Amino acid sequence: MNIHEYQGKQILKSFGVAIQEGIVADTPGKAVEAAKQLQVETGTGWWVVKAQIHAGGRGKGGGVKLAKSLDEVKELANNIIGMNLITHQTGPAGKKVNKVLIAQDVYYPGETETDEFYMSVLLNRQTGKNIIMYSTEGGMDIEDVAEKTPHLIYKEEVDPGLGLLGFQARKIAFNLGLSGQAFKEMTKFVTALYKAYVETDSSMFEINPVLRTSDNKILAVDAKVNLDDNALFRHPAYAAMRDLSEEDPAETEASKSDLNFVKLDGNVGCMVNGAGLAMATMDIIKLSGGEPANFLDVGGGANATTVEAGLKIILNDPNVKAILINIFGGIVRCDRVANGVVEAYKNIGEIDVPIIVRLQGTNAEGGKKIIDESGLKVYSAITLKEASDLVQQIVN
Ligand code: GDP
Ligand code: MN
Repeated sequence: MNIHEYQGKQILKSFGVAIQEGIVADTPGKAVEAAKQLQVETGTGWWVVKAQIHAGGRGKGGGVKLAKSLDEVKELANNIIGMNLITHQTGPAGKKVNKVLIAQDVYYPGETETDEFYMSVLLNRQTGKNIIMYSTEGGMDIEDVAEKTPHLIYKEEVDPGLGLLGFQARKIAFNLGLSGQAFKEMTKFVTALYKAYVETDSSMFEINPVLRTSDNKILAVDAKVNLDDNALFRHPAYAAMRDLSEEDPAETEASKSDLNFVKLDGNVGCMVNGAGLAMATMDIIKLSGGEPANFLDVGGGANATTVEAGLKIILNDPNVKAILINIFGGIVRCDRVANGVVEAYKNIGEIDVPIIVRLQGTNAEGGKKIIDESGLKVYSAITLKEASDLVQQIVN
């Protein structure tokens, strides 16, 4: 689960990671109040107004602006709240900004003596260890750094059993070219950051930039925090940070029915049991000349309720020209799935999109018979070849 920068920073702060302080606001009036409060708390006279959306690249897209007076805070908040922000991570449609983070200016008026670093913590699945990636080249797209100057990206593997050891924290501070006070601050920063990553059950932290201020503080200026969905039950406070307005409505609907659904842009909807089979089915759709409209894994217990929920979600997509249901009957029997499809079809009522049902496995023949005799606009297939031929006829 992704969360906003302001929420990520709250979590980091609770673990003792030093952050650029800020207060979130959803109206220009509240933005000014937030700025005043920050002035009292931190002494800052300048502020940054930062669009809160689940995507990076906000600075380049015009979603991060410096305000040098309360009037400017108000004006910028007014411009940014409600804007449709397009960045290289939002896709061409952009994302609507509902909130801004009013943050203290930590680059300080007129000062240039700062350093921007990159730092992330994530899991290396190959080695089964956590990894801290960091670079002197912060503040810019790390993908560019990785491509043009890969030797400037350092990696520190951390054994989860041992945790981040003192010498590792010092090595990181050293490789970032720090000394004196800043060196000490960096070892504290990375130690707290690693602890936060582990204890929040996160799957990724990305802090870009980590700033060395002109007075040698080390601060998280940005925070991209990705929490592991499977561990959210252990963290109700984090689970409550979910922002449904950032998610695709079809995906939200699907998660209510425990369906694994990812919306795509194609014209052939698909419903499959098992993620591997779902991906193979998407390949078949492409080979038949179609484009998958979604990924949908209904899981092990395909029944009338899940089939109906899945069909409804797919049918809501106006791009869908055909639906391919591809179920392998292992534990679930094909005749039950077939009955489920027929029942769901009748419950939904008018469906003008052709549905191809390919059932294979336990009681496949019985399932095909049920589909064929239902009198509905449903085509049955047993082999993948038959199913793909049907897709081809319909979409081409
Ligand atoms: P992103 O573009 O979505 O990654 O958003 P960031 O939070 O990383 O902010 C983008 C850029 O805004 C940073 O790289 C900084 O250069 C700049 N920025 C952020 N905070 C401040 C600040 O307090 N003062 C100034 N002058 N610039 C800031
Ligand atoms: Mn950033």
